[in-house]
Amino acid sequence: MSEASVAAKPAGATGSATTYDAVVIGAGVAGLYQVYRLREMGMSVLGIEAGSGVGGTWYWNRYPGARFDSEAEIYQYWFDEAMFKNWQPTERFPAQPETERWLNYVADRTDLRKYYSFDTRVTAAHYDEAGQQWRVETDRGDTVTARFLICCTGMLSAPLSNIFEGQDSFKGQIFHTARWPKERVEFVGKRVGVVGTGATGIQVIQTIAPQVGHMKVFLRTPQYIIPMRNPKYTPADWAQQGKRFSEIRDRVQGTFSGFEYDFDNGVWADLTPAQRTEVLERLWADGSLALWLSSFAEMFFDEKVNDVVSEFVREKMRARIKDPDLCAKLIPTSYGFGTHRVPLESNYLEVFHQPNVEIVDVKASPIVRIVPEGVMTADGTVHELDILVLATGFNAGSGALTRIDIRGRDGRSLKEEWGQEIRTAMGLQVHGYPNLFTTGAPLAPSAALCNMTTCLQQQVGWISDCIRDMREKGLKVIEASRESQDQWVAHHDEIANKTLVVKTDSWYMGSNVSGKPRRLLSYIGGVGTYRQKCADVAASGYSGFKFA
Ligand code: NAP
Repeated sequence: MSEASVAAKPAGATGSATTYDAVVIGAGVAGLYQVYRLREMGMSVLGIEAGSGVGGTWYWNRYPGARFDSEAEIYQYWFDEAMFKNWQPTERFPAQPETERWLNYVADRTDLRKYYSFDTRVTAAHYDEAGQQWRVETDRGDTVTARFLICCTGMLSAPLSNIFEGQDSFKGQIFHTARWPKERVEFVGKRVGVVGTGATGIQVIQTIAPQVGHMKVFLRTPQYIIPMRNPKYTPADWAQQGKRFSEIRDRVQGTFSGFEYDFDNGVWADLTPAQRTEVLERLWADGSLALWLSSFAEMFFDEKVNDVVSEFVREKMRARIKDPDLCAKLIPTSYGFGTHRVPLESNYLEVFHQPNVEIVDVKASPIVRIVPEGVMTADGTVHELDILVLATGFNAGSGALTRIDIRGRDGRSLKEEWGQEIRTAMGLQVHGYPNLFTTGAPLAPSAALCNMTTCLQQQVGWISDCIRDMREKGLKVIEASRESQDQWVAHHDEIANKTLVVKTDSWYMGSNVSGKPRRLLSYIGGVGTYRQKCADVAASGYSGFKFA
């Protein structure tokens, strides 16, 4: 069946099997580009997307205050200069509605929607060894087969939304931030509870605080923050960025984190304390993630350096909070700055000075269950609420894949294997799963330590080039060897274990999901380094990968 007929049918209406060169799961930043690249190569492609439209993260995370921490000029695609220039971001860090509009603009311009089946979730994908193809099943009862299965399923897309006993009994409204309704949620005068103070919770709290009647923030682990500086972008500003298109594109490929900035402030040990402070002050004033991802790399490895930077940030926070009791609750002391995601914020700390905002210390007295009236904590208190916002995060990296019943050679199950230990070959393939490619997957640089558009385009690019090379050589099957996967995991762990990141609990280590095997989920050797390693593998004729 051709793509045109799939596009013409209502998604999932047939139930009959159809065959494609490739199935791409996801219509986010990676999925759209992946479909674009495969179509450019003349392949038949079916995109499958659970949402009703394109956007991925930017489709689902429509909670109040959602916006990214990557500058608009780097959160871009690089395959179409005119597409970049003809878009007009309104500010340095645009909010979710604008980014969702941008991805729709990309989908319109590239005419990609017709290859997608929307409102369709992949439930299972089984590799058929004899036929050398994947058999993909959806929740609409469709089954399609494809030579290649490419999972652009996102690193942070499997929400931890049902984590408390009794959630169904709640009489008010309950929302996970990544399943926010399209309809407006009315906070005015309401008693609102927010669980979670990660990058998401902070954005929600600072945004709804002016509207709520009363807000209880159920706080377990405080966060280091950096105040966001978010100037408006005029058409003249964007025209200037347009002139830098090639410069920006080339720059972000090689930096540590895929942002424009990099660790180029000298060696910590060579600088005087005054010089170090000068760097920290300058990057703090930049109002971006530069303080974290481009001040001093030693911060990630050396506890003494990390202590100084952590104290620098704490001092900034104290200056804003003032009240010692609030300082004790809101300023982290149990882990080092930058050992997990540092959120940008706007007025987050000041919110807690409002008389109608209250912190409930759920480290001291954890949430035990949800009751019809609200949240019950271990001390027996029932915190009565009208609305409960769960900003409780995601089963990151692995969760988007393990919620699909993926079975490789000999019926092996990815869910079972990753339930024991999460292993990949460069985050691009998994041994035992031929012709399955992944983006945003564990052990590649990703959301944790990367500007996502940089990393995802690089991964999609590598996968597309690999498939093109295979087709040119008449090869049908590719699979990472066990040895090369072992080597990658060892290399990944060696770098990770030198850092302080592995000592801090967060989704970075999988420790936010009970029973999840502990391993740093994102590659921390640097985006530029990773890119080079991937390029070297391709240039060597894909050493470490077996073909048939
Ligand atoms: P997260 O960082 O995993 O934060 C989850 C929060 O929920 C934490 O504060 C956690 O507390 C709390 N929590 C979970 N279970 C709890 C429980 N049983 N009781 C009390 N508290 C509980 O998730 P997120 O904030 O959604 O962010 C995930 C990632 O998405 C970010 O790190 C970032 O990479 C990305 N993101 C980016 C942006 C942006 O670009 N601006 C915005 C939002 C998200 P503990 O820390 O104590 O576990």
